[in-house]
Amino acid sequence: MKILDGRIARASLMKGLAARFAALAARGAPASLAIVQVGARPDSTAYVNAKKRFGTEAGAAVKHILLPEGVGEAELVAEIRALDADPAVGGVIVQLPLPDGLKSRQAAILAAVSPAKDVDAITGANELRPATARGVGELLDFYGIGLAGKKACVIGRSALVGAPTAELCRERGASVTVCHSKTADLAKETAAADVIIVAAGKPGLVGAAHVRPGQTVVDIGISREGDALVGDVDAAAAAPILGPDGALSPVPGGVGPMTVLALFENLADLCENNHHE
Ligand code: NAP
Repeated sequence: MKILDGRIARASLMKGLAARFAALAARGAPASLAIVQVGARPDSTAYVNAKKRFGTEAGAAVKHILLPEGVGEAELVAEIRALDADPAVGGVIVQLPLPDGLKSRQAAILAAVSPAKDVDAITGANELRPATARGVGELLDFYGIGLAGKKACVIGRSALVGAPTAELCRERGASVTVCHSKTADLAKETAAADVIIVAAGKPGLVGAAHVRPGQTVVDIGISREGDALVGDVDAAAAAPILGPDGALSPVPGGVGPMTVLALFENLADLCENNHHE
C-alpha cells in the first residue's frame, strides 16, 4: 500500500513556494498573513503556531492577533477591518471556531474580510479554493493519482472542507458521491468508489467494512484522542484490505501538512494578484 505522506510532498513543494515569497519581497511587497484568534483554545493555538512556523520557514511574515475570549463583535470586526485595510497585510484569517458567544454572528464577522484578502476562501467571493481542498488536490498530484473517469466518494459536506473537496473531484473529472450523517448505507457508497475522501471528524468511521483492495483513501479528519491525533479511518483495519495497489493518507502527516502549505500558496496567489507591477 502506498502511503500518501503529506510531509514528504510538502517538503518537495516548499521550494517553489519559498521562491514566490522571495520574488514578492524582492519587488518590495513582502507577503504577510494576519491571523486573528479569539480566546486561547489550545487546539486553535496549536494550529496558529503551525501556520506561524511554516510561514516563517517559507519566507512570509505571520502576525498573530490574540483577542480575549470576551471581546465584543464590534471590536472584533473593527480589528479585522483595520488589518484588511492595511496594505502591508496580504491575507487575513479569522481562526475558527469562534467562542460560543460569537458563534451565531460568525457569518457577519467573517464578512469583514474582503475577497482580496480572504486567504481561507471563506467568503466564496474570490478565485481561491479553500486550503484543505487545495491541499488534497496537491497530495493526489504529488503521488500521481488522477481522478478523471474515477468514482470518488466524499464523506462530509461542510462549506469549508467537504463541499470544496467534492467540487475539486468533479472539476478533475470524477463522478462524485457526497455522503453525510444522513447517508443510509455508507459502506455501500464507499465500496463503489475508486477514491474515498473522508472529512467527518468521526474517528474510525471508515473501517474494514468500507474499503476494498486497490482503493485510494484520503483521510482529512482530525480528532484528539488523549494526547494523540487520529483521523476518520481505522488505518490498522483498512490498510491490509487496501493491499499493494491501494493508497492511504496517514493522520497525522497526511492532509494536515498539505493544508498549511496550500494556505500559504493561497496567500502567494493573493499577494501576486494584489501587486501587479
Ligand atoms: P463539520 O463541519 O463538522 O462537518 C462534518 C461533516 O461530516 C458533515 O457534513 C456531517 O454530515 C458529516 N458526518 C458527520 N458524521 C457522519 C457520519 N457518521 N457519517 C457520514 N458523515 C458524517 O466538520 P469540518 O469542518 O468539515 O471538518 C471535518 C473534519 O476534518 C474534522 O475532523 C476537522 O478537524 C478536519 N479538518 C482537517 C483539516 C486538515 O488540514 N487535515 C482541515 C480542516 C478540517 P451532516 O452535513 O449531515 O451534518
